[in-house]
Amino acid sequence: MPEASKTTPEVTLDEIVALCKRRGFVFQASEIYGGLASTYDYGHYGVLLKNNVKAEWWRAMVGERDDIVALDSAILQHPRVWEASGHLAGFTDPLVDCRTCKLRFRADDLENAQCGRKPSLHPGEHSECDLTDPRQFNLMFKTHMGPVEEDAAVAYLRPETAQGIFINFKNVVQFARRKPPFGIAQVGKSFRNEITPGNFVFRTREFEQMEMEFFVPPAEAQTWFEYWLDERERWYTDLGVRPDYLRLREHPPEELSHYSSATSDIEYLFPIGWSELEGIANRGDFDLTQHAKFSGEKLEYFDQERGEAYVPHVIEPAAGADRAALAFIVDAYDTDEFEGRKRTVLRLHPRLAPVKAAVLPLVSKAGMPERAREIYEDVRSRVPAEYDEGGSIGKRYRRQDEIGTPWGITVDGQTLEDGTVTLRDRDSLEQERVQAEEIADRLAAKLAEPWQSPKLAA
Ligand code: ATP
Repeated sequence: MPEASKTTPEVTLDEIVALCKRRGFVFQASEIYGGLASTYDYGHYGVLLKNNVKAEWWRAMVGERDDIVALDSAILQHPRVWEASGHLAGFTDPLVDCRTCKLRFRADDLENAQCGRKPSLHPGEHSECDLTDPRQFNLMFKTHMGPVEEDAAVAYLRPETAQGIFINFKNVVQFARRKPPFGIAQVGKSFRNEITPGNFVFRTREFEQMEMEFFVPPAEAQTWFEYWLDERERWYTDLGVRPDYLRLREHPPEELSHYSSATSDIEYLFPIGWSELEGIANRGDFDLTQHAKFSGEKLEYFDQERGEAYVPHVIEPAAGADRAALAFIVDAYDTDEFEGRKRTVLRLHPRLAPVKAAVLPLVSKAGMPERAREIYEDVRSRVPAEYDEGGSIGKRYRRQDEIGTPWGITVDGQTLEDGTVTLRDRDSLEQERVQAEEIADRLAAKLAEPWQSPKLAA
C-alpha cells in the first residue's frame, strides 16, 4: 500500500450528516421520540448504497472466487460460544466515572477524552475532577431466552460474526467438502455495548459486519496474511477510494487482541482523523482450538495425502458495512460551481451509486413525460434507475448529483423528432446525444468498466 500522503480531512462530519439527512440516506433512530443515542435508521438511498457495498463485498469474496463459501449463522448462539471465544472474560473495557461531571471515560484512553468541566483538559487534570478507580465493563449485550429472566436463560447478542463461522468449520469441511486453504464469509448485524459510541455511523452499538475467515495450513499463514492485506486494500481502491486517503497500520504487540499473532488495520482519513476501516488479523489456531476444547468436538482437517490431521490457522479480514459506506460517502463528497451556483455532488463509483440513471423529461408536457416513461421502463430493466418530472430540470439534476447518480437522461423536444436523448455525465457534466434505444446497453456496459475517482485528477 502506498504511503498515505494526506493529513487533513476535506469535509466535516456535520456536512456529511446534513447531506445524509437531507437526501434520506440516514436518519437519527427514534427521532420523533427525541432519538436514541448512537442508533441510526437507513432511508431509501442509504439502504441502496449499503446493499451495493455488501453486494460488492460478496462479489469479491464469493462471486469471483472458488475458494470461499457463504454462511448466515444465528445472532444468538449457545453462551458457551462466548466463553470459548474469550468474549465473556476478555471483551471488556476499563471505565472510570467522574463524580463531579458525571461523565464516563475509557480508562485506557484518557488522553483523547475531554474533561466535562473544561474541555481543553483531559479527565483527571482539572482540580475538581474526582475519578473512580477503573472498573471492567463487558461489551456484550445480555438478553434472556424465553419468558423467564433467570440466569440459566442468559444469552448474548453476538458481538462479532466471526464466531458463528468458527463453530461451522466442521459443517463446511464435511458437507461443503472444502480443504484448506478455504474461506467462509458472512455478513450480518453485530452488537456491542460500546462505551463511547459516536461520530455518526462510525461507531454504533448495533452495526453490520462483513467478515471472512480463511483457513490455511499453518505454514502458509504469513503468506496468506500478506495476500489478504493487499486484496482488501485493492477492494477499496477498485471501488474508487483514493489511495492517499488510505493507510495500513500494524498493531504493536501490546495492542494485539488475545487471539491474534499479527493484526493490521486499513485506516481511512475520516473527518474525525485517521481511523480503522477494516482489521486484518492472523488469528492462528486460537479459535478452533478453543471451540474444540469447550465443545469436545474435533475441529481439525485430516490431510489425506500426508496422512495427518492438523488445526488450520486463520486469516481474518473483518470489515464494517456501515463504516465502509461512510468512507465511500466521505471520499465521494465534493462541491463545485456550475452555471454560477454551488453544487454538492457525490462522486461515487457507479457500481456503488444508489441510482445509476435518472430519466427526466425536460418539461412535463408536450408528450415528453410519456416518452420519458417508456425510456425509463427500458433503462430500469437493465440498471437501477429513477424517473423524476417534478420541478425545474436544474433542481432535478442537483438532487441527483447529491445522491451520486452518475448518469442523467433528458427527454426533450428533439427526442420526439429524431429519437435521441441527452446523456449527462455527473462528473464531467458533458452532455451527448444518444439514440434512446441504445441507452440501456450503453449504461450496462459503462457499469462494467473500471472506474477512477475524478477527484484524483483534480
Ligand atoms: P474499533 O477499534 O474501531 O473499536 P475493532 O477493532 O473493535 O474496531 P473489529 O472487532 O476488528 O473492530 O471489527 C471489524 C470491523 O467492524 C471494524 O473494522 C469496523 O469496520 C466494524 N466495527 C466494529 N465496531 C463497530 C461499531 N461499534 N460500529 C460500527 N462499526 C464497527
